[in-house]
Amino acid sequence: MADRAFPHRHLLGIEPLDADDLRQILDLATAFFEVGERPIKKVPTLRGRTVINLFFESSTRTRTSFELAAKRLSADAVNISGSSSSTTKGETLLDTAANLMAMAPDAIVVRHAFAGAPHQMARHIDAAIINAGDGQHEHPTQALLDAATIRRHHPKAIAAGGDLRGLEVAIVGDLAHSRVARSNLLCLTRLGARVRLCAPWTLQPLGLLRLGGDVTAEAARVCTRLDDALDGADVVMMLRVQGERTIGEAPRFPNTREYSRYYGLSARTLARARPDAIVMHPGPINRGVELAPDVADGPRAVILDQVAWGVAVRMAVLYLLAGGRGSEPSA
Ligand code: ASP
Repeated sequence: MADRAFPHRHLLGIEPLDADDLRQILDLATAFFEVGERPIKKVPTLRGRTVINLFFESSTRTRTSFELAAKRLSADAVNISGSSSSTTKGETLLDTAANLMAMAPDAIVVRHAFAGAPHQMARHIDAAIINAGDGQHEHPTQALLDAATIRRHHPKAIAAGGDLRGLEVAIVGDLAHSRVARSNLLCLTRLGARVRLCAPWTLQPLGLLRLGGDVTAEAARVCTRLDDALDGADVVMMLRVQGERTIGEAPRFPNTREYSRYYGLSARTLARARPDAIVMHPGPINRGVELAPDVADGPRAVILDQVAWGVAVRMAVLYLLAGGRGSEPSA
């Protein structure tokens, strides 16, 4: 599978990927994960290649892990943040991209507040474009690292050799603003898991399941009661309420304490899930709001494992898109 030619030039979302594409990236990530456990965490796979990380929205995990991924593959990695780029002087995104292209990068990793910004870049420039989060649309590498974490950390998935078919995944929180939820809905259902999406009505986008394109009623359902999402769940993925996307708008719930009471995951509410359920969160966590600190730091949480898999998944994506084919991860 890892040797098959990857049929895409860019990673703009999970939407264009089929189950074979997803498994190819995940299998490759497993090979690259091992590089991060070596004393010398570097392979020469992308030597001489250039990766530009262009981030117009804040990021801790995604940006650092793309940079580390590029460096562990021996690529030259350059970081540009929105606040320090010439877009603050009025330059358009496409002019910025064209200028960066003049420096001949092999891949540009882009995060932008506008949905579709990476797609627009991909239409106009020559490098591989990797979407690191576009507005409320998609965050494909987050969904891939989440799938990789489930494959490696859920007992049923481990026993099934990384097969996610039949797993029940609850995704709970601010679905209205979450690119993570949308990418995960697509990724997990394509890999055969069943997804329950849970939020108060005020934090659900209109036509939520239609946002998942080909997602069937059999593969996903929406609920408003936390218990309905958690009952018998194998994986519980909690999302942050994205207050930065609703500044100036009417509040979506009475207050944080109320939200936490009805939609927060605590040791008590987690007991409704299966005894071997794992707890995930894409970060940043608002401790005590969507996730109780003892659960976030408890034995069921795989939140830091998600971060570790983030580097391996991003190495796999860079390898496939920035011209690393031909060199083995073990080189
Ligand atoms: N880090 C994730 C994102 O960039 C989730 C979040 O910000 O809550 O979408």
